[in-house]
Amino acid sequence: MTNKELANLMFPDVTKTIDDYEKIYPKRDLAEGAIVSRYAPSPTGFVHMGNMLSCFIECFVPKKTNGIFYLRIEDTDQKREIENGIDNIVSAIKTLGLDYNEGVISETEQRGNYGPYIQSERIEIYHTFAKYMIENDLAYPCFCTAQEMDETREKQKTRKERIGYYGRYAKCRNLDNDERAKRIRRGDTYTIRLKSNGDYHKKVHFHDLVKGDVIFPENDQDIILIKSDGIPLYHFAHLVDDHLMRTTHVLRGEDWLPSVPVHIQLFNMFGFELPNYAHLGLIMIVDENGSKRKISKRKDQNFAVRHFHEIGMPQLPMQEYLMTIANSNFESWRESNPNAPLIDFDFSFSKIGSSPLFDQSKLLNISKNYLSKLSAKEVYDNLYDWALKYDSDFASLISQYKEYTINILNIEREQKKPRKDFGCYSDIKPYIWYMYKELFKDVNYEWQNINNIDEIKSILNKYIDFYYDINDDKDTWFNKMKLLAEEFGYATNIKDYKNNPSGYKGSIVDISMVIRVALTSKSMTPDLYDIMQLLGIETIKERINKL
Ligand code: GLU
Repeated sequence: MTNKELANLMFPDVTKTIDDYEKIYPKRDLAEGAIVSRYAPSPTGFVHMGNMLSCFIECFVPKKTNGIFYLRIEDTDQKREIENGIDNIVSAIKTLGLDYNEGVISETEQRGNYGPYIQSERIEIYHTFAKYMIENDLAYPCFCTAQEMDETREKQKTRKERIGYYGRYAKCRNLDNDERAKRIRRGDTYTIRLKSNGDYHKKVHFHDLVKGDVIFPENDQDIILIKSDGIPLYHFAHLVDDHLMRTTHVLRGEDWLPSVPVHIQLFNMFGFELPNYAHLGLIMIVDENGSKRKISKRKDQNFAVRHFHEIGMPQLPMQEYLMTIANSNFESWRESNPNAPLIDFDFSFSKIGSSPLFDQSKLLNISKNYLSKLSAKEVYDNLYDWALKYDSDFASLISQYKEYTINILNIEREQKKPRKDFGCYSDIKPYIWYMYKELFKDVNYEWQNINNIDEIKSILNKYIDFYYDINDDKDTWFNKMKLLAEEFGYATNIKDYKNNPSGYKGSIVDISMVIRVALTSKSMTPDLYDIMQLLGIETIKERINKL
C-alpha cells in the first residue's frame, strides 16, 4: 500500500489540501517589519497577573509596528478545561484595558480572517496537515498501547538510556503500510507520530529574543502529533496555527524552550518560515514574608485578574506596572518622561529579565500616584462605574450627592502634592464614608490622648458656641483653634509642649484630634478644615450633640 493510500484510509473525510489552506490564509498584507503576535492561553480558569504579563507584551509589541495582535484559545487539553474559561480570559484582557485585532471575542463570537481562533474548531485543518505528513512519509500511525509504553520506559530506566520514543524504541516506525492498514481496518486505536529526521548527536542553534543564542541537541523523538482521539498535541497545533495565522513572534513561557528543536524540525519539514521565539521566565511573586515563589491557584487568588477587577484597580497603572516588570530600563525612562504615553517607550525583548517578579505593593504605589493625578471629576466617574458593579448602595449614595462627593474627592487634590490615599476604587469608601450622614451611624470613635468624655464635650461645646464660624478662612480657623487650646490648658504648638510637658495638659494636636474624631470618628483624615467646610454647620452641630 502506498503512503497516499494509507493517508486516504486514515483521513477519509479530509477533502482539502494544505495548499488550499495556504490560499484561504494568505500571507498578511502588512508593512515591512510589522509584528504579528498572539496570546494563546488554555482556558483553565485561573487567569492571573503573570499570564497578563505575556498578554500585555504581546499586545504592546505589534502596536508600534502597525502589526496584528490576536487571541487564540488553546482548548485541546479537554481535561484541564473549565466552564466559562473563554469569558474569563476575555474579561481579564478587558480588565487590563488591552485590545486585540482578531480572535475570540466571547464564548460564541470570533473576529478576523485567519480563524477559527479556537483550536477545537480547527480539527479538520490539523487533519489535513497530518494527512500531508502521512502521504509524504513524515509521520506514521503508532499502535503502541499504554502498557507497552510503560514497559519501554522501564527498560530505558534500567539501561540508563534517554526516555522516549526514538531509535530502536520507536516500534511502529518501521511497520509496513499493509500491516498499518490491517490494524486500522480492524479498529486498533492509534496515535500519529512524527517520523523524526533529527540526530541527537547534532546540535540545533537558534536565537531566542529573550534568552539570546541557545543550543540544543536535535530532536530525534518520534513525538505524538495527534492523539488517538484525533486531537492534536501542542507542537503540531503550534506549527499549523502559527503558520496559517501568519504569526511572526511567539512569546510564551520558558517551559517551551526545550521544545524549540521539535518546532524548528516541523517548520523545516514543511518549508515554512520559522517565527521569532521569545521565551519568558516564570513570573514569581513576593509573598507576605518577603520571599519569592510561584503563583499558586490555591493560595494566590489575590493575583487573579478577577480580583483586580473586583477591587477596582485602574487599567493604566496595571499596564505601567507590567512594563516595569517587562523591561528593566522602563522605570528610568518613566522618570525622564513622566507624562509620555506608554506607547512611546521602546520596548525590547532582550531587556526582559530572567525571572520577572510581581510585587503587589509596587503596583499599588504606581496606582496611588496615578489616582492622585486624576481630577476629582474623573475619580468620581470611575468610582461610580466601579460601584455600580460592586457596591450598588454606595453608587446610589454618591450619585445622590454627586457634587458633594466630587468636592470630597477634591480635598487635597488638584494641587502640586496631592494626597495619595487610595490605590484602587474600592479603597475610596473606607476613606470617605463618614462624610455621608447615611453611613455615619453606630460609629466607633478613635479617641486618642483626650478620651475623657466630659473633657471632650466641654472642648467641643466651647468650640462650637464661641469659636467656630464656617465663614472663617483657614488661618483664622486655625488661630481660633489655638485660642481654644490655650483656654483649656493645651500648648498652642508642639514645640512649647515638648519643651515643657508638665506645664500643659497636651497640645494643639490633641485639641484638633478631638474635633477630628468627633466629626469623623477617625483619627486620620485628610484636611480637617476642608472636611468641616463640606460637612456644614448643621451636620457639625448634630455630630457634636450626638456625643
Ligand atoms: N496554550 C499554551 C500555554 O498555555 C500556549 C503557549 C504558547 O503561547 O504557544 O502554555
